[in-house]
Amino acid sequence: MITRRNIILIPSLILLLSIFLLDYCHTPQSLQKKKLKIYILTDLEGVSGVVTFQKHSYSDGIYYEQSKALLTKEINAAVEGFLEGGASEIVILDGHGSGGINIDYIHSEAKVLMGRFTDRDFGLDSSFDAFIFIGQHAMSNAPNGNLAHSFSSRTIENIWLNGKLIGEIGALVLYASYFNVPTIFLSGDDVACNEIKELIPNIETAAVKKGFGLNAALCLSPEKAREKIKEGVKRAVRKIDQFELYKVEPPYEVIIEYKNPDSAENKAKSPGWERISDLKCTYKTNDFLSIRW
Ligand SMILES: [Zn+2]
Repeated sequence: MITRRNIILIPSLILLLSIFLLDYCHTPQSLQKKKLKIYILTDLEGVSGVVTFQKHSYSDGIYYEQSKALLTKEINAAVEGFLEGGASEIVILDGHGSGGINIDYIHSEAKVLMGRFTDRDFGLDSSFDAFIFIGQHAMSNAPNGNLAHSFSSRTIENIWLNGKLIGEIGALVLYASYFNVPTIFLSGDDVACNEIKELIPNIETAAVKKGFGLNAALCLSPEKAREKIKEGVKRAVRKIDQFELYKVEPPYEVIIEYKNPDSAENKAKSPGWERISDLKCTYKTNDFLSIRW
């Protein structure tokens, strides 16, 4: 029945509904309580309290077990930040060669990718909403970089991609970007934080130590480091829709300079690699995933 009251009420309801829908569509995804799926890549050398290769990060180091505990707690701080920010699934990859996580102490809501993965598959794909680094170090020879190295601290001197120096940070950000997953946060020493800001200016970081060279750093207390990580992660989640993908377009030319000729000779035996000098090998491709750093 059309009454005078309905004639006023129905258009008013339609107007209210339209305003609500318009507002909802313009609200950033994160604020619509979208459940986020997060990938955490971890390394040992960028953790507060880990400052030398021999004593802290090599598996025969006297503080190696302590280093693993420190990393695990830094990871847990990031997990807490993500859970408070609305993450529903958090996957962690232990990226340190000899292992950097003590799974006994990992946060109950996180899962850990473990075991040997092929070079092409680290369990990362386009289903993830964000990629972050915990415990990351700067590229080899970065001034003041604590434990700075690129993939192999023992054999690799420098790596260039298309004429530009690149380390693990650049290579792994590109890897995540390949799957259209934005990198939104990094913790490590101040040098690693600055390195990633060159690629992603609005990235959130937590500098948990100040690098004073390869085997020295001014470290925050572990408690303060974890606080900084948790807060940084929460800031990153709040602006998750604002990150752009850092990409380098193909073709790719990689040059690796080794510390000794034997390593260059070995690399030259890998498919597609060519030795171009005593210490350097090169690899050219259009397929980013085929690069074996
Ligand atoms: Zn590393």
